[in-house]
Amino acid sequence: MVNYPSKLLEKAVEEVSRLPGIGRRSAMRLVLHLLRQEKEQTLALAEALATLRSEVHYCRECHNISDSELCEVCANPRRDHAMVCVVQTIEDVMAIEATQMYRGVYHVLGGVISPIDGIGPRDLEIESLMQRIRRDNIREIILALSPTMEGDTTGFYIFRQIQALMPSAGEEIQDSVEGVHRPMPKVTVLARGIAQNDELQYTDEITLGRALAGRTEMK
Ligand SMILES: [Zn+2]
Repeated sequence: MVNYPSKLLEKAVEEVSRLPGIGRRSAMRLVLHLLRQEKEQTLALAEALATLRSEVHYCRECHNISDSELCEVCANPRRDHAMVCVVQTIEDVMAIEATQMYRGVYHVLGGVISPIDGIGPRDLEIESLMQRIRRDNIREIILALSPTMEGDTTGFYIFRQIQALMPSAGEEIQDSVEGVHRPMPKVTVLARGIAQNDELQYTDEITLGRALAGRTEMK
């Protein structure tokens, strides 16, 4: 048990040590650093965090992090809006953007189906993805999920949901707005260049770019 000379110090250390990968000892070091540096700098950090938390938006289309209602990718007319890359997290969007090989748009699920962690399809942005497929003219859905059991389960669930949008007779889905029929989007998965159980965001740009280029159709 550390004996803190100040309750304020103890409180700050306690808050910082809640961050992932930060133990009590590191938290103490960071807090003392914040105390020793210029006051303005520490206040600028505190303000940036407070503003981030209160003013950040999530894109109403793709749920990516954004400063406005629509993120920069969704608002960009030069992006291919008929190609939607489905990812687990915002970090995955950043990883794929870093490859500079993708010109389509995204859909951030917010995680993967994981019964052990109590995460079901309803806890994720799957229904909003189906709404986009019913509403927009989407040519291809790329499932860029981590090659884990949970990632595979989620990909397969989404694939089945998309198939279920088709009327049993033909390979067409009904447009929710115009009532017209159009072909079901092609569903593709990343090539398995990514090692099993790797998180997408930790894959290097070249490997991830290759996996994207070598994607295969899901049957
Ligand atoms: Zn967006």
